[in-house]
Amino acid sequence: MTALLLILLAAAPARKLTTLERVQVANLERVRADRQRLAMERRRIPPPEGFRDVRAILHCHAEDAAHTAGTRPELLAAAKKTGVSAVLLSDHVRPERDYINDNWRGLRDGVLFIPGSEAEGFLNYPMRSIHGLQWSSRDEYISLIRRDGGLIFLSHVEERLDHPMDRLDGLEIYNRHTDANDETEYRQWFRKALSDPAAWADISGKLERYHEEYFGAQQDYLAPILAAWDRATQTHPLTGIAANDAHHNQVFTLTKRDGRTAVIDSFERKNLGTVELPEALRDRPDGEVLYRLDFDPYEVSFRNVSTHLWVKSLTEPEVREALRAGRAYVAHDWLCDPTGFRFETAAGNRLTAASPVRAHFRLLRDGEPVLEQFTDSLDWKIPSPGVYRLELWLDVGGERRPWIYSNPTYATQQR
Ligand SMILES: [Zn+2]
Ligand SMILES: [Zn+2]
Repeated sequence: MTALLLILLAAAPARKLTTLERVQVANLERVRADRQRLAMERRRIPPPEGFRDVRAILHCHAEDAAHTAGTRPELLAAAKKTGVSAVLLSDHVRPERDYINDNWRGLRDGVLFIPGSEAEGFLNYPMRSIHGLQWSSRDEYISLIRRDGGLIFLSHVEERLDHPMDRLDGLEIYNRHTDANDETEYRQWFRKALSDPAAWADISGKLERYHEEYFGAQQDYLAPILAAWDRATQTHPLTGIAANDAHHNQVFTLTKRDGRTAVIDSFERKNLGTVELPEALRDRPDGEVLYRLDFDPYEVSFRNVSTHLWVKSLTEPEVREALRAGRAYVAHDWLCDPTGFRFETAAGNRLTAASPVRAHFRLLRDGEPVLEQFTDSLDWKIPSPGVYRLELWLDVGGERRPWIYSNPTYATQQR
């Protein structure tokens, strides 16, 4: 009896952990073990006939602003290393630079680049340059970006939850920067930790051993944004995409200054403070970097989340068409490779889905959950018309965490 109860308790997911709980070694280790278990369980699912499932990164920065540390060659190397096929850049706009014509475009070493910008609250992927052009309203701006097939997505949706979406191609349903910004408790802890040399040693050791898990510790479910998406898709299809918002700029160093002190720098701000060094570190040469915490190299950021696309070939028109048509899903790839995931309407009155591993399927109609099931496939007769989308959640590190977000499918009639 007691044993059975314990087994049941162990199987049930506990409450959601805080970021500080997630970055404890025991939890990082547990998450690592669960990721390994999922990788073993994984089965291959073929993409629909004629299509490839490719990973794309939207919303990333390189050489575009003083607060961006990463370079385009560095970004390309990370894309190759992490199996990313397409990168849609989102440069901060500077008046002296044309973000379309003075940028990377086309295939480079097997990775497709599409230039674009982050401006006016949107991610913008016009077909050709808009450099030097003027606009006098939001509508005019959207028309300018969309002419001849340009794409426009609402960005940082948390800042504009009621923004009209009728003329947009989609929105960011997950943004890494948004997710990191709400970490008040973690941030307070981290600010304090910076003045403690033992904490530097601790974090640096964790990044060395558990970089993916540590970065992933801030990953949450952004409910207000998903609710805004569900409201907007009631009237108009909108493709949900992931925003990595990668800058490779979360880098902190502790540098020995003189006999007993060291200075804290971040990439964005020099001299955040000084630290009194313990005996053991005092004989290190002045000017030596004692610790370097590099939280967000592109490859860690690219593994954390991406937008998967179904394309016939790796070309700019194909990538644009997949994004426009919503042949896309968002996944936290670091938890388990989602490649092959499918969610479709079949024969007009059925919804089908398949996952490479068993997961908690959470089916929503018009934003309300209608079915929850632990499975690796679904074949479900649609009982009533509506806008359906599917979320897949995994039990990892003792809690249930979001893994895949499908795009919506519209079930209009029953037969
Ligand atoms: Zn930025
Ligand atoms: Zn950005």
